[in-house]
Amino acid sequence: MADPASDLPFFYGSISRIEAEEHLKLAGMSDGLFLLRQCLRSLGGYVLSLVWNLQFHHYSVEKQLNGTYCIAGGKPHCGPGELCEFYSKDADGMVFNLRKPCLRAPETPIRTGIFDSLRDNMLRQYVRETWHLEGEAMEQAVISQAPQLEKLIATTAHEKMPWYHSKITRQEAERRLYSAAQPDGKFLVRDREDNGTFALSVMYGKTAYHYQILHDKSGKYSMPEGTKFDTVWQLVEYFKMKQDGLVTILREVCMSPSCTVATPFLPAARKPRPNGYTPAPEAPPQTDRALPMDTSVYESPYSDPEALKEKKLFLKREQLMIDEEELGSGNFGCVKKGIYKMRKKHIDVAIKVLKSENEKSVKDELMKEAEIMHQLDNPYIVRMIGLCQAESLMLVMEMAASGPLNKFLSSKRDQILVDNVVELMHQVSLGMVYLEENNFVHRDLAARNVLLVNQHYAKISDFGLSKALGADDNYYKARTAGKWPLKWYAPECINYHKFSSKSDVWSFGITMWEAFSFGGKPYKKMKGPEVTGFIESGKRMDCPAGCPDQMYTLMKDCWIYKHEERPDFAKVEEQMRTYYYSISKKTPPEEKAGDTTAATAKAPPM
Ligand code: ADP
Ligand code: MG
Repeated sequence: MADPASDLPFFYGSISRIEAEEHLKLAGMSDGLFLLRQCLRSLGGYVLSLVWNLQFHHYSVEKQLNGTYCIAGGKPHCGPGELCEFYSKDADGMVFNLRKPCLRAPETPIRTGIFDSLRDNMLRQYVRETWHLEGEAMEQAVISQAPQLEKLIATTAHEKMPWYHSKITRQEAERRLYSAAQPDGKFLVRDREDNGTFALSVMYGKTAYHYQILHDKSGKYSMPEGTKFDTVWQLVEYFKMKQDGLVTILREVCMSPSCTVATPFLPAARKPRPNGYTPAPEAPPQTDRALPMDTSVYESPYSDPEALKEKKLFLKREQLMIDEEELGSGNFGCVKKGIYKMRKKHIDVAIKVLKSENEKSVKDELMKEAEIMHQLDNPYIVRMIGLCQAESLMLVMEMAASGPLNKFLSSKRDQILVDNVVELMHQVSLGMVYLEENNFVHRDLAARNVLLVNQHYAKISDFGLSKALGADDNYYKARTAGKWPLKWYAPECINYHKFSSKSDVWSFGITMWEAFSFGGKPYKKMKGPEVTGFIESGKRMDCPAGCPDQMYTLMKDCWIYKHEERPDFAKVEEQMRTYYYSISKKTPPEEKAGDTTAATAKAPPM
């Protein structure tokens, strides 16, 4: 994940104080010469190194739990760049203002810190261990949930470390330290008995020393009067490198008897939940909601090899229970709720039931839709379970219980944060990258066809108009115009009947507009043909109220007239991701519906 400072030309990454001073010396030691570097002790913190009067001054920039950055006692800022800009105008307590950036030479790359690669590994290990995901499913989980996973890991990372002994008495800690060899720096961390804080016990000169690890109101961990850390794990890593007031640096792990993992930095895994429609109560406090991977529809029900063995295109009617409840309807028939009984588990399904009086062409269309869906398998796409030919022809799909995105957002507009919309649209972009990579054009991407599994998990659905492109084709040419969703269609679709992933990108832009206007209708009361004139004259829809600038800019990119100049989904996803990660860093961890103190705005009133 990119460091929020990585765009700053005076950011050096994880260099030491001495190296920082070397750079400043080489750059001339003028008053106000400065650079920014990564802080070793906190996830996401920095140090500003500044020259004044031929001397070096180092100010640590703390990242607060609410995602803002500040120098101790100073004003909070939303990013490292903003903070530096502020101090370039006003010294505000520092010896001098930031006057001249010490620019990083092109041959000096930003040094990645130990935590950067460790963190990346941890994310993957965590996903692997918790949800038993591998390969593409794991990568998608990491990409789509990195901000949530980081928060989760920050709060639980120490729990499966070999040096973590959970709740034991001081006497028991000493007994464990004294057993076997007693080298200097042998250490363990334990829960203190009285108040829920931690203690670090270290061996030095055959004597055990005990330090209390403080946990302050802002959630940071520290030694009394020492530097502060986001996690106990980082505190330990730091004291492995620096003595900083301890009797010795931490060297050898006193292994916890309950530690069985081979990978020393593997954090405690969270119990996956069998059914993701309702957030389970036992989630850790900081990420108190189901992640997509917690739900039963993240992976295909056929990802289990045994279930796969029994996979057939046509399902047996006896294994299907159909509810009376209708989830939706159309001229083909209706979509009903149901349960599909597999050998090992029963799964909730949505069943598209064809009206029996329908003509053959409608049946053919459903078969085509099934044929497309049959080839798709991605966490952000509604999967087909199979077809069933009984009282009527039925298409059995994964259930997305919270229904279409537009309806969901318009009915909950005062409870849903804009950040939540960004998260969902990022997921849609991930699903679209998958389609683009596999040469499918959707042709009906719209908020009504994005279904929600829950408030934080979206899937693309309705492949009724979709086409698989030939290996050498990059567009589909429709022979005749049908009943088309013109307001969602790119100019080349309307003018030349040409459909490609780039025309899906246009529709993605419209879908974004619908989402950020909380289920609003695009182009207001205009009729399809009027919209065409509007677009041809170079006009585009306005930014929905409360929609972040970055998201509106992306929408407009999706509406670039010439498809050759429009970004592809790989690019769109990258932009969605960058923005999504950047706001996830700034949002307080607890995101409550109806919480007016949250950092980001909710939908404006209609
Ligand atoms: P149409 O071709 O008529 O647009 P859709 O596939 O979009 O058909 O389905 C129509 C409606 O049925 C959707 O808007 C939604 O409310 C409901 N629906 C369809 N598929 C599912 C599903 N997998 N889970 C839950 N509801 C669904
Ligand atoms: Mg639909």
